[in-house]
Amino acid sequence: MEVKCRRLEGKVAVVTASTQGIGLAIAERLGLEGAAVVISSRKQKNVDDAVKRLKAQGITAVGAVCHVSDAQQRKSLIDTAVKNFGHIDILVSNAAANPTVDGILEMKEAVLDKLWDINVKASILLLQDAAPHLRKGSSVIIISSIAGYNPEQGLTMYGVTKTALLGLTKALAREMGPNTRVNCIAPGFVPTRFASFLTNDETIRKELTERTIIKRLGSVEDMAAVAAFLASDDASFITAETIVVAGGIQSRL
Ligand code: NAP
Repeated sequence: MEVKCRRLEGKVAVVTASTQGIGLAIAERLGLEGAAVVISSRKQKNVDDAVKRLKAQGITAVGAVCHVSDAQQRKSLIDTAVKNFGHIDILVSNAAANPTVDGILEMKEAVLDKLWDINVKASILLLQDAAPHLRKGSSVIIISSIAGYNPEQGLTMYGVTKTALLGLTKALAREMGPNTRVNCIAPGFVPTRFASFLTNDETIRKELTERTIIKRLGSVEDMAAVAAFLASDDASFITAETIVVAGGIQSRL
């Protein structure tokens, strides 16, 4: 991707779940706009491969293994950023799980716990670790979902956890302002591994495309472009907001 704008020069970004899909595209875009990036995911090999890919594009990148519900690994992700770069300017909380298509009334308690732990609690705990290192003018970006507005079949409880992130964004923005802005992105349907159970099915894919006004699914680059904007000083008067990037799919609560 050719990105000429260097509006994130001198900034340091930490991105969770960033070895593929939307997270990797965000890390790449922030890096191409000049930020030093700290990427992470559960598997060392994925982290190594992603760091290599970013460095090959001239991006300053380091990686850490971080399963977001592991307290030690969350700390080590923040430590990696601070040891390498001294502070943090951008934190993107991107990890999520959708372990089942069961309805809410059939859902096992362990599955409910996993959904809340990974999709909501881990973002809060990671921010608690990161907060002392966030500089004035910093930006937190939480990745929610269009399913947070429409928690439909197959995405029900997952969608409810994503609705919670809309509230979390508003609450944290108040708590962390004025030095740190907190915003949220609600992506529409993007063909990644995470969404493959929907987007690999030709009929569902067509139906999801039809729902948009733009008449296509989203791309990881669509999400990354909005993240780079929110992370930059171009968005310096924007906090406590969610930007829906869903091609016009209905997004009212
Ligand atoms: P993806 O392409 O499947 O990528 C998932 C990434 O997360 C991988 O790098 C994976 O690497 C890492 N990961 C998975 N579980 C993790 C965990 N517990 N802790 C840390 N890293 C973890 O997924 P995606 O579609 O980009 O999804 C990213 C975010 O976008 C999620 O929050 C999702 O809810 C949201 N979203 C996606 C869509 C969509 O249509 N794709 C729509 C709305 C919202 P390892 O396997 O190495 O851990």
